[in-house]
Amino acid sequence: MSHQAIYRKFRPKIFDDVLGQEHVTKTLKNQILSDNIAHAYLFSGIRGTGKTSTAKIFARAVNCTNSHDGNPCNECEICKSILDETNMDVIEMDAASNNGVEDIRELRDKVKFLPVKSKYKVYIIDEVHMLSKGAFNALLKTLEEPPEHLLFILATTEPQKIPATILSRCQRFDLKRIKSSVIVENMEKICQEINVKYDEKALKLIAANSEGAMRDALSILDRCVSFNNEEVDYETVINLLGTVNYQVVMEAASSLMDKSIEKTMILVDDILNSGKELSFFLDELIICFRNMLIIKTTNSTDNLMRVSEDEAEALKNASSKISVDEIVNYIEDLSTAQLECKRSLNPRVLLETKLIKMLHGVNHTDIETLTKRIEELENIIKSGNVPVARQSAKAAPSRQTAVHNDFPAQETRKTVVSEHAVKQETSHDTSNSVQEPRNFENKSDEAIFNAIINGWQAILKKVRSENAGLQAIIRESKLTEVVNKKAVFEFDPKFTFHINAANQPKNRQKFKDVISSFVNDNCEVEFISKREKEEKSNKPKQTIEDIYEDLKNEFGEEIVEFKQED
Ligand SMILES: [Zn+2]
Repeated sequence: MSHQAIYRKFRPKIFDDVLGQEHVTKTLKNQILSDNIAHAYLFSGIRGTGKTSTAKIFARAVNCTNSHDGNPCNECEICKSILDETNMDVIEMDAASNNGVEDIRELRDKVKFLPVKSKYKVYIIDEVHMLSKGAFNALLKTLEEPPEHLLFILATTEPQKIPATILSRCQRFDLKRIKSSVIVENMEKICQEINVKYDEKALKLIAANSEGAMRDALSILDRCVSFNNEEVDYETVINLLGTVNYQVVMEAASSLMDKSIEKTMILVDDILNSGKELSFFLDELIICFRNMLIIKTTNSTDNLMRVSEDEAEALKNASSKISVDEIVNYIEDLSTAQLECKRSLNPRVLLETKLIKMLHGVNHTDIETLTKRIEELENIIKSGNVPVARQSAKAAPSRQTAVHNDFPAQETRKTVVSEHAVKQETSHDTSNSVQEPRNFENKSDEAIFNAIINGWQAILKKVRSENAGLQAIIRESKLTEVVNKKAVFEFDPKFTFHINAANQPKNRQKFKDVISSFVNDNCEVEFISKREKEEKSNKPKQTIEDIYEDLKNEFGEEIVEFKQED
């Protein structure tokens, strides 16, 4: 079967066969029944929703000598001549190739003549937005004083490009995207008629990929039938579309939700190795989270999601494990990743980097989580059982003052975290080392991370030139992450001595200076043992400084102020 055979064979021939556009066809039928035809119509809507089919049916219906209930009979001499394109009174034009002033002038000269044998002379102008400005002006002159026998049917996918002067002279009908269920039903009917077995899941997948355009759906169906003329099955559709099985997409979504980097990376690898398009996969993943959002926020999931029952069930389960804020974050992050992947020379590596970053949760501002933490903080303050402050309590207000002076307008946005009972620990570690003022660049955590990894040997060399003992300690550590410009170095738990030594204020400051100067940005450093890191990630936040740090990390230093009251 040749390409588009199904689409042509099953093209609607009467208004009642135009699916999903009853709001248009009913009005047109009524106009024909009451003989109340306007001179110009505009059919707009996305491709494949039935604009041209409706225009052709309308052209026959207005001229049919034996119409039934507003539908053309398709059997009278006039209908037949229009159907086999021998009727001189129905003229189809494609504005994409006849868009000049001359084309429309020629048309203007011809419209004066009466129709040869039909009641109306009908001009169907497809993709009318492609007309040049001059051509639109010429068309306007005809529309201003149309001869009695003339009927214009304009069709366009981009009505916003049509001059208002033209629009105001047309009756406008917007053809909608066709509902998935209507598309599936039509494909079922067609499969039965052409004697091809089908799997309902497969038809639903086709419908989901046609975005409400019947023509697209039937083209895909046609390709499936050409490929396997016995049965339209799910696997064939997946292979033809280059799309990804929803179970795989669900698995990817849940590995993201579990924050499992390993699982996510393996899945991405599998998907890409099986030859699937990266952009398809991201598309599906974004739609998957979008559907979860629909489930969590609305009641009319059936209308808003084009998925099978199995998939709806899986989505419902998954969405119960995630908050609305988290879903929104995923959608935003994945959409950004998708956009950047399209521009990247190495989209795969970019995607993997983005996913890892997402899983570290660096960029997320999860309001629910933050609200919980603020409540936690309030409870600690109320209880009066406030842990003793560490270095950050001292450093924060002074840094905040600088920000405050620079950006006074932001003052109102600050969340003031008051603290009554913090005992200030006297600490000399920062005041001892006088650092020369220096203009640092403002780098991303990713850039800092890469700079340290790539320059590790040079950094160690520099540390050794200043303090050989310190270098011997630090070289046993490994950079694990950079979060809000704090580089975290991990030691194997057996190196207790090393960890303690590295964390001595003097050593820490020295190393911080080397790192900051190396990456040309003001970085903090932290040394932890591998075990401590695991405990830390499981342990709830306890001290005010921890919570302050988190708030600051989430909202930014400009918004959160750490304020002490005497
Ligand atoms: Zn007829």
